[in-house]
Amino acid sequence: MKLYFKIVIFVLALISVSLWVDIHFTKVAVTEAMSAQIADSAVAAAGSMTQEFQKAFLSGKELDGIKALHAFTQKTGAAYAGMVAGDGTVIAHTNVALAGTRLTDPLMGRAAHSPGAIFRRITYNGEGVVDTVIPVPGVKSASSEDILFEGLGQTSERAGFVRAGLPLTPARKAEKAIIFKLLILALAIGAAALALSALFARVILRQVSLLREGIRKVREGNYDLSVQVISDDELGEVAGSFNELTRGLAETTVSKKYLDSILESMPDPLFISDEEGRIIKTNKAAAEFSGYDFSPPAAFNLKALLEPQAEGGAEPFSLLAWSGHIKELDLWFLAKGGKRLPVMLSSALAGPEGRRQIVTVLKDTSQHKESEARLAQYLKEVETVNSELDAFAHTVSHDLKEPLRGIEMFSGMLLSDYAGKMDPQAGDYLARVVKASGRMRRLIDDLLSFARVSRVRNPYEDVSTGRLAAEAVAGLSALIEEKKALVRVAPDLPTIFCDPVKMGQLFNNLISNALKYNDKPVPEVDVAAERFGEYYWKFSVKDNGIGIPSQYSEEIFKMFKRLHSRQEYGGGTGAGLAIVRKIVEEHNGKIWVESVEGKSSTFYVLIPADLRKQP
Ligand code: ADP
Repeated sequence: MKLYFKIVIFVLALISVSLWVDIHFTKVAVTEAMSAQIADSAVAAAGSMTQEFQKAFLSGKELDGIKALHAFTQKTGAAYAGMVAGDGTVIAHTNVALAGTRLTDPLMGRAAHSPGAIFRRITYNGEGVVDTVIPVPGVKSASSEDILFEGLGQTSERAGFVRAGLPLTPARKAEKAIIFKLLILALAIGAAALALSALFARVILRQVSLLREGIRKVREGNYDLSVQVISDDELGEVAGSFNELTRGLAETTVSKKYLDSILESMPDPLFISDEEGRIIKTNKAAAEFSGYDFSPPAAFNLKALLEPQAEGGAEPFSLLAWSGHIKELDLWFLAKGGKRLPVMLSSALAGPEGRRQIVTVLKDTSQHKESEARLAQYLKEVETVNSELDAFAHTVSHDLKEPLRGIEMFSGMLLSDYAGKMDPQAGDYLARVVKASGRMRRLIDDLLSFARVSRVRNPYEDVSTGRLAAEAVAGLSALIEEKKALVRVAPDLPTIFCDPVKMGQLFNNLISNALKYNDKPVPEVDVAAERFGEYYWKFSVKDNGIGIPSQYSEEIFKMFKRLHSRQEYGGGTGAGLAIVRKIVEEHNGKIWVESVEGKSSTFYVLIPADLRKQP
């Protein structure tokens, strides 16, 4: 029930009760007053007949009493009247049957002790009467002569009582008139109070209705508002607090309208559903993407529109119930017309317990899928070309080696067999041919080992890199001895999952370079490793050699790139670092060099600790 009606009903009830109490007590008071008045008139009538009553009491004869009572009833209109002696004995009564009986009722008892007349209201023969007991004074020492000549003389002791039932009829009329007037007055007061209370309630409730309107707007998402404060009472305080609340909300909360416009302008399809998947809301992109008209949204269930991409793939809603959110799950979306579109789904639970909703955003991955497929195709092609190239390099190198061996052999034979028969010029040319073919052989060998890195796939295993480094150092012992070098391998090199042959070659190439490109009297080489993030080990091979000019720190990793003349620093073809880089790349790693020219170089190699795990 509305507060307005509650207030009005309350006021009405209050007025009715107070008016009823008022009328009741007024009625009682009026009755009391009227009864007293009737009793008074009876006392006056009895007073005017005192002598008759005294005489009757003195004679004690019923007949005398009846005469006096008859005159009394004629004066007063009493329904009954009696003369009662001090001890309650009825001397005479209009109801003659009562003569000689004794009245012992409480009114008589009270009358014995009361100085004046007393009365009460009773019903007599179905009529209301005022039952009144009037004392009759006695006569002081009167002789019969005195009475004859001077009347009864001085009154003294009580002679007895006159008891009469005086009719209420005139009082009733007056009472009715008063009550009627009172009722009219009460009705008028009630109507006025009702009108006033209605007005009062309206004034009080105006603040409430302003608040109610404000709350409705907030519920619609319009937070930036304030209601008018029209009273400075508690309701006014509530309105003030409400305004503070909306101000706070407007500052901290994004309005629903604002949020809606963001959702609508989102390029990705968005669905808001209940926990059962029943769609509650979608954005424009959702309709465009799916081809469905989502009005009314409840007719669609998101669960039915999604399908795992792989056989036995995860069901998104059970995944969501388990983890609370889903990130980038590949699924099929069943669009209108039975089209299956590849999507990436991200979902999260939102809202309070019991009223949970699921916010789902789909990403159309059809283009992504296409480019992925294209990329895979390119990769395949590149791999084919690469392996063809490797195979080509391998065959060419092999095929080249054959005639090269012939050239070397026959030039050697020429040099030895025709040593004295050739003029010096021809001997010099021939020596150059031998040297050039030797270099060509080395180049072909290096080319072969470079091609072998990608052509040969050795099984991967968990290998101690400490052991691989130690083996490389042992293989280089002659060079170490020759250079009087110090090579230190840190004791804590890790075990990693790798191709052991190629990783051994990596250590060999880096350590031999560190020794080769070193002009210090005591070349020093340090091989170490440290953890790099969660996924990688960072190996380092540090020397105190000639260093590398910074502009070449990238160049040196290219095939056949050397920074020095052929003879310097023990010669070489410039394939060593190119091979190392290929090995590192095959292990999904990275290689780079940091150097101080003339002082030192450090080669860093990042290798995943365990290639079986994803970063
Ligand atoms: P090679 O040693 O056969 O010349 P590499 O590919 O191993 O070929 O090295 C390429 C070039 O990089 C070398 O010629 C050299 O100039 C430079 N280099 C490699 N390692 C070092 C090093 N530790 N200190 C200085 N320079 C180096």
